Amino acid sequence: MLETLSEVQGLDLERDALTAARGETPQELLAARIRRAELQAERDRVKADHDDLRKQVAATDLELKTLQERRKSASESALRAATAKEMSQFQNQELQFATRAQELEEDALPLMERLEARATELAALQAQLDELEPELDAAEELERARVAEVDARDADLADRRDRLATTVETMLLRQYEQVRKARRGLALVGLQDGKRCGGCHVQLPIHVVQKVRKHQGVVRCPSCGRLLYQEPEA
Ligand SMILES: [Zn+2]
Repeated sequence: MLETLSEVQGLDLERDALTAARGETPQELLAARIRRAELQAERDRVKADHDDLRKQVAATDLELKTLQERRKSASESALRAATAKEMSQFQNQELQFATRAQELEEDALPLMERLEARATELAALQAQLDELEPELDAAEELERARVAEVDARDADLADRRDRLATTVETMLLRQYEQVRKARRGLALVGLQDGKRCGGCHVQLPIHVVQKVRKHQGVVRCPSCGRLLYQEPEA
């Protein structure tokens, strides 16, 4: 009975190992995911800055157009002025608009330069992302296949385990499962050096050791509660 339980435990431990393996995503893939996230964050940051600059440039252009229209209108009004005073007023206006337009053009220049630099930076970041994307997609595909294979092996093990478990006495199986849960792994252990618990290594009382050796029912370690088992001689 305990031999069968030991086989059940062997399958359970294999399944534990598979669960651990399932979570072991390759380092390169993890690094590539981080790299993409970093690039995307940087691209978004540069793009936000770029779009903001573009809005500023567009607003400046609009203001310039308005100023030029006003300047033109002032210039035309000056030509149609009825008096010299009126003409002088319109000419002053024209000059003011021209001066402001010139100032605005000067301010717009560094703005344009920054916009251009941002556009270059944005294109470079996008190119890096475009290059990374297919590599990452391929790696993700491999990872999905790897996990699917682990899952398939686990399903197979689970099936074998469950079929085997039906041949183990219900009470014993229940005890085993409770201890396994509590001890997170080994529930059925052999004797160590013929006198110690193979799980917690405590020295067992003589009568406990004897019961285990004589296979007198289910014996538990008084210290950790694991089921003790005299492994068959090799
Ligand atoms: Zn123990």
